[in-house]
Amino acid sequence: MSYQGVIKRYRWYLPVSEKTPIITLQEGNTPLVLAQSLSKMPGKNVEVYLKYEGLNPSGSFKDRGMTVAVSKAKEERAQAVICASTGNTSASAAAYAAVALMKCVVLIPKGSIALGKLAQALIHGAQVIAIDGNFDDCLELVRQITKEYPITLVNSLNPNRIEGQKTAAFEICDVLAEAPDYHFIPVGNAGNITAYWKGYQEYKKIGRIKHLPKMCGFQAEGAAPIVRKQVVKDPQTLATAIKIGNPASWKAAEAARDESGGLIDLVSDQEIISAYKLLAAQEGIFVEPASAASVAGLLKLAKNNYFCKQKTINNKQTLRIVCVLTGHGLKDPERAIASIEQPKVLPANLKTVIKEIGL
Ligand SMILES: *Cc1c(COP(=O)(O)O)cnc(C)c1O
Repeated sequence: MSYQGVIKRYRWYLPVSEKTPIITLQEGNTPLVLAQSLSKMPGKNVEVYLKYEGLNPSGSFKDRGMTVAVSKAKEERAQAVICASTGNTSASAAAYAAVALMKCVVLIPKGSIALGKLAQALIHGAQVIAIDGNFDDCLELVRQITKEYPITLVNSLNPNRIEGQKTAAFEICDVLAEAPDYHFIPVGNAGNITAYWKGYQEYKKIGRIKHLPKMCGFQAEGAAPIVRKQVVKDPQTLATAIKIGNPASWKAAEAARDESGGLIDLVSDQEIISAYKLLAAQEGIFVEPASAASVAGLLKLAKNNYFCKQKTINNKQTLRIVCVLTGHGLKDPERAIASIEQPKVLPANLKTVIKEIGL
């Protein structure tokens, strides 16, 4: 049978039963692309794979968690879902709520979300409320609302979101027939690093893989509470999807780091934009800025000769590294335009155009 989404594919690992109505947009099953350019790292044999989550139906990995969260909400006869969002959670919640015929309310930080994401939430029919505050303020409001009123929270505080998102780790292991040696990932609210670590651990427990990857998470320099070991009151970064000062899954992210022998580090906005441009220009993959934090982290560690000092697991010759690319570049076209030289305008004259091309 044709592919029908992550719940059907991995239902034995997910909190669903025959009674659960499956609300799906056929999310998941995203490409694991061998990165030709990034794999040519000096001094070490590496294979770098890019898990291209921007190809999910709403353009980010949030859909994996949302299919489970909204299906469970439907099963529990919820009439409405609500989330705080830096953009992609609201886009995804709005799409899945539309399929489920449920009301969707989203709280977003005013002026801080990429245009494409706002467009998605609005066109899918969500009630969008912009809050004069940051993401952390929005999440606090949503926590209080869902404590007192009958509306289901679909942020990653909802364990069904983490359950759905762990399927990306399963897919990586199914394709590679083993876990990678390293797993690189952007960290915002820290739900996704938590989910991947849970997925890898579950696959190890049932013998589908023999070893676990080292989890390497990356926060933006101006929004790096886990790295700095303190809440960031006024987080700043152009990578809006990880502009979070007090991550909900802080403890779980630290556990993933420590149990796996990995690290959580920070990358500057400049490093993020360099990786963002490199992915587009050399690997042919257009991501949103936050997604490039994983690759920025990889380049930072490689520059510091981190991998030269590392032994391969199981004495293999080649280190296998997976970088998660969390969201699609088309969500934030303004950032792309701002990061690159603008097209030259010429008269409609054949000679001039040929000369400009350099023919
Ligand atoms: C949500 C999101 C993140 C951050 O994921 P967390 O689970 O909050 O750590 C990173 N990149 C993109 C594109 C996102 O949408």
